[in-house]
Amino acid sequence: MGLQISRRAAMRRAISVAAGAAAATTTIKVSEQVGARRPLPFYKGPAASIHADRRTAPRNSHVDVVWSVNTIKREIALTFDDGPKPQWTPKVLETLRRHGVPATFFLVGRNLAEHADLLAQDADRHEFGNHTWQHEDLARQDFDAAIEALTRAHEAIIHLLGRVPTLMRPPYGHLGGSTMLACAELGYSVVLWSKQMLESDFRDNPSGLVDYIVGSSGAGDIVLAHDTGPKDRLVALDRLDSMIVGLQERGFEFVTVSQLLNGSSG
Ligand SMILES: [Zn+2]
Repeated sequence: MGLQISRRAAMRRAISVAAGAAAATTTIKVSEQVGARRPLPFYKGPAASIHADRRTAPRNSHVDVVWSVNTIKREIALTFDDGPKPQWTPKVLETLRRHGVPATFFLVGRNLAEHADLLAQDADRHEFGNHTWQHEDLARQDFDAAIEALTRAHEAIIHLLGRVPTLMRPPYGHLGGSTMLACAELGYSVVLWSKQMLESDFRDNPSGLVDYIVGSSGAGDIVLAHDTGPKDRLVALDRLDSMIVGLQERGFEFVTVSQLLNGSSG
């Protein structure tokens, strides 16, 4: 009898758990459907890649989006995001200078406005791309906000470095239609990456990051690093020397992203 009661109680509990789970599932499904059925604004929102007046086409007919480059040349492009900042930009520049290696820096306009002097000595060796004015998440911006974030940084690069940038890297790798439209207006190619410094994965085994980058990089890779940010970025920056030497020993040559895209390093 006792057993029967407890079995019945267990069954009741099982039924109520199942019902609860079913209810939860139903709730999720309903909310997903509500979200899916709510249309994004056709024009004006972050997803819109067409101008809201429905009449104006962007100045450029297309925008390239690049993760890496198909090439048989053993070329790799190192890229450094978010600077310039006094913290580690000079250390990175010094290492690159010592090896005679060029890189591409995706600059945050506001940081450039404050610290352009950090780049003066080495500007000729390197390429500079646009990483927005203050690291905005462009996937959340409508066209007006996206083009404002990009234009302010674009003008800072022209004004402070005397170069017209042609490459844009979106913060976080986040993209929306409004960003593509802004890039078509400004003549930018969008540059993502095919390999990145996995600092947080190698905090306890820093030399493992050297092995990972040197061992797994291939021709045409675009490598993402940062010359500012949290302290674990040093897991990579402290070992930049070994990475450069290791990749050169494997026969790789370092080029800027534009050289990689144009196949023009010889
Ligand atoms: Zn960034």
